[in-house]
Amino acid sequence: MITFDQVTVVHDGATAPALPLVDAQIPEGELCLLIGPSGAGKSTLLGTVSGLVPHFTGGTLHGRVTVAGRDTRTHKPRELADIVGTVGQDPLAHFVTDTVEDELAYGMESLGLPPGTMRRRVEETLDLLGLNELRDRPIASLSGGQQQRVAIGSVLTPHPKVLVLDEPTSALDPPAAEEVLAVLQRLVHDLGTTVLMAEHRLERVVQYADQVLLLAPEDEGSGSAAPGGFPSP
Ligand code: ADP
Ligand code: ADP
Repeated sequence: MITFDQVTVVHDGATAPALPLVDAQIPEGELCLLIGPSGAGKSTLLGTVSGLVPHFTGGTLHGRVTVAGRDTRTHKPRELADIVGTVGQDPLAHFVTDTVEDELAYGMESLGLPPGTMRRRVEETLDLLGLNELRDRPIASLSGGQQQRVAIGSVLTPHPKVLVLDEPTSALDPPAAEEVLAVLQRLVHDLGTTVLMAEHRLERVVQYADQVLLLAPEDEGSGSAAPGGFPSP
């Protein structure tokens, strides 16, 4: 579902690549964990999947990234929106509307779906994420974990095949983090969504992963991204 073929990125003005060469394949319906120290290039690699790199950030993408067969260098993020949903580290930065329900609907607005389909998808997503009781609440009044679930829900309503998340639990306390991880597990197992998630606290999430991709900086390891040998759950 996602392929990285000899991928690296050189940001504008940088003299060295932002990440080591990555060669990896993430099959449909798997959860892949992307780990590595701060500055190893995790966010940059996620950006090559959503198309933010290089379309919005500039810089040069070397090699080839495909998502569901689409080359992310030749497709703008808008042209990937129906297959890739992206959630950043800070859910608050993500929101464009005031209430939970409006936010879930917003992500579908550019897709040209019939109103009935949009309403149905909002309902199914509220159920899936356990957000039904919060549907009319202002997003600003929710807890961090609830906000993160709304952020995930807002990118799920277009029914993406791939979900990309940048440390979605890093700002959450353990119970809230568990709620978010349970949602991701449900997506992978029940809907066959492919999930690529950057995370720095390996111990909490490794049990959910089918594959672990390690970004090791040049001076701290082999200099290449190594698919980990962790067992499937
Ligand atoms: P991580 O997510 O693992 O912390 P990043 O992908 O954010 O790593 O950063 C990898 C490297 O690329 C770092 O050295 C960072 O300073 C650099 N970098 C990230 N984004 C940009 C950018 N837009 N312009 C220039 N350098 C960047
Ligand atoms: P459509 O909106 O295209 O008419 P439905 O809303 O009936 O289709 O959903 C089609 C199927 O996709 C349903 O079986 C539904 O459970 C499932 N589905 C629900 N949420 C998602 C999701 N986030 N990603 C993929 N499939 C989903």
